[in-house]
Amino acid sequence: MPNSLGEPIADPFVEVALPVPLRRVFTYAVPEALHGKLACGSRVAVSFNRRKLAGVVVSSRAELPEGVKRALSVAGALEPEPVFTSELLRFLEQAAKYYIHPLGEVLRAAAPALPTGAMKRLRADGFLEPEESLPGQRIAHHRTWRISTTNAEAAEIRLGARQRRAFEIVQASGSAWLEDLRPEIKNPRAVVRALADKGLLTFEEVAANPDPFFRTPVHRDRPPTPNPPQQLAIDSIVESIHARRAEPFLLHGVTGSGKTEVYLRAIDEVRGAGGGAILLVPEIALTPQLVGRFRARFGDDIAVLHSALSARQREDAWQSLRSGRVQVAIGARSALFAPVADLRLIVVDEEHDPSFKQDEGFRYHARDMALLRAHYAGAVCVLGSATPSIETYHRANEGKLRLLSLPSRATGARLPEVEIVDLRRHRHGPSGHALVSGPLHAAIARCLDAGHQAILFLNRRGFSPSVRCSGCGVLAECPACSVALTEHRGQGVLRCHYCDFHRPLVVACPACGAKEYEHLGVGTEQLQQSVEESFPAARVARLDRDTASGEGVEAVLDRLRKGEVDVLVGTQMVTKGHDIAGVSLVGVVLADQSLAFPDFRASERTFQLLAQVAGRAGRAETPGEVVFQTFQPDHPAVRLAASHDYERFYAEEVESRREVGYPPFTRLVTARVHAGAEDEARRATGLLAETARQHAAVREGAVQVLGPAPAPLARLRGRYHYRLLLKSPDRKLLRQVAALLAARIDRGLAPAHATLDIDPL
Ligand code: ADP
Ligand code: ZN
Repeated sequence: MPNSLGEPIADPFVEVALPVPLRRVFTYAVPEALHGKLACGSRVAVSFNRRKLAGVVVSSRAELPEGVKRALSVAGALEPEPVFTSELLRFLEQAAKYYIHPLGEVLRAAAPALPTGAMKRLRADGFLEPEESLPGQRIAHHRTWRISTTNAEAAEIRLGARQRRAFEIVQASGSAWLEDLRPEIKNPRAVVRALADKGLLTFEEVAANPDPFFRTPVHRDRPPTPNPPQQLAIDSIVESIHARRAEPFLLHGVTGSGKTEVYLRAIDEVRGAGGGAILLVPEIALTPQLVGRFRARFGDDIAVLHSALSARQREDAWQSLRSGRVQVAIGARSALFAPVADLRLIVVDEEHDPSFKQDEGFRYHARDMALLRAHYAGAVCVLGSATPSIETYHRANEGKLRLLSLPSRATGARLPEVEIVDLRRHRHGPSGHALVSGPLHAAIARCLDAGHQAILFLNRRGFSPSVRCSGCGVLAECPACSVALTEHRGQGVLRCHYCDFHRPLVVACPACGAKEYEHLGVGTEQLQQSVEESFPAARVARLDRDTASGEGVEAVLDRLRKGEVDVLVGTQMVTKGHDIAGVSLVGVVLADQSLAFPDFRASERTFQLLAQVAGRAGRAETPGEVVFQTFQPDHPAVRLAASHDYERFYAEEVESRREVGYPPFTRLVTARVHAGAEDEARRATGLLAETARQHAAVREGAVQVLGPAPAPLARLRGRYHYRLLLKSPDRKLLRQVAALLAARIDRGLAPAHATLDIDPL
């Protein structure tokens, strides 16, 4: 069947990329039944080493490759249309090349989940029968009611208490779902029917959207008039979109400066022109509010790609994006691969966020790949941040990105005052709890007295990050990883945050048999307890990965938004873009915590975290107040985040990077090696180092080779990890050496296993 996406293939042979860890493609013959029905981007089933695998056709050829006598035939095609548009396929080929990663694995990472093992029945036309048991069947949409107000006046009609309350709930936003009434109204159907009989409400039965991002209805917003810097940014981006200039931008705007409004306007323009757009956000689960703003502007015809989608929902989303019926895709890093038709714009919000780096399997950086995809698609790429990464800002300074600035908050609110509390001088406050100093205690008290809300940020979950036996002083460690076990008092366990190993809290010390532990350090669980003890009247909630898996992120944030929480204690989750009007105080419990990481980006990371978390305070009429508690009050990352001085921080940081030769002045490649025994891992890494030295650039020092060295987490899930770091200011030479390593890895390092990480974080 000829298709709209790619030219049908007339050649007798095709090259197929398979999801196997081999950096090559494989030739198969096109069977009679499929002549003229395949295109580049089609998914096909083939035999490979006696297994059936689903692969992707990436090119065709008139003859077999030289030296190859015969080829197996393609067993069947999975769908009548190619899964990958030619634009997407071309980009993914470039991405595989850039990361020196097997194309088949890149394609598998990009495609919606497909059942590789389970094969379907082959039909005479060469296509495979759709499998009945596809994981995540289309969910039978359950029915619900959409309820709306009428123009009738309730004041003139006698209502019972339940009826009045139900009416108020619907009236508050003009419409509601049956589910919105359930928490407060018993038997809501009967109540709504009664109100409808009185002419106060109308309702219609509709299929409920099973997707949590679409469950509650939103009202169309009234777009604010852009202020002059916003207008300038919008005009520049829009002009570039229409001129099809494929130009990359950096939108640098302080927290609350109205960057999202710029995205909305640019995307609106793209939609109007019939094109498509992608918005990448760091963590989709933390951004229901942002999705709400997009629905308010564009309605529900947007695709929100998130991990809770079933395989079937994901395929539906792909279908509607590919066909152009839905023009906007929003999601975390993997939304980069959304098959948006006629792609004109990619926005990367909070481009500095480390979660854009995929850190297993196909290791890619979604921000860098957004620039690449936009380049190949002829689309505009907008990177937005209040605290751009050093690499990105450097690129802007070099003229490789066009810099657009939003220097002040859109609502006219001022950036909050930040007080730095030196923990070496202030130990415990009046509560006596470690890590709640006098000044922080006083600030919380002031905030609560004023009826405002506070957020306290501490980037460690659990009760204590580590515990030590009181008898012999031995630290409780994970048996499989080289890390301390974290005490989770609520769950009554000591837990490894890497492999999830856990054991009961009260157990005899494996070394001496003693049953008492000493707690070292403070985690969010303990912080919550101290705040509850110090402020018994306050309603304290916690947001971290432990509570997220229970009550759910959305539910906690919802309670905060409704004013049902006075103090929210949490990890990084509290630092992301929640825009909550009642929050006037943000306390960073240990501002220098992330400086301790053995990483040249530690300072940058700390600055970003602090500046972002400080931006959570005082976003509405209430002026914000921020407290940083720290043992290093003079550290530039702490000091300059407190004065909201990005430019100064950048200038200092980029200088020190230049001095020590780190990115953006050099590029890095890491070979990661692991094995069941330490000497095997070290030996294999040594072999890679030898391989690297075969290149003249390494012998002459143009490419530096550092290692073999144990990885920062030398033992993880029972395996030993080693590293080899390549570093060079010359990108081309570095790639040549990396390619040598890839070839060596392909020849095998058994029993060790190795992978390359290009531009590691
Ligand atoms: P950012 O994405 O930079 O953090 P937002 O786009 O979330 O900022 O804007 C912060 C607040 O300012 C939001 O409540 C938004 O509705 C409001 N806002 C944005 N642009 C304007 C404007 N031009 N006039 C008035 N309010 C605005
Ligand atoms: Zn472990």
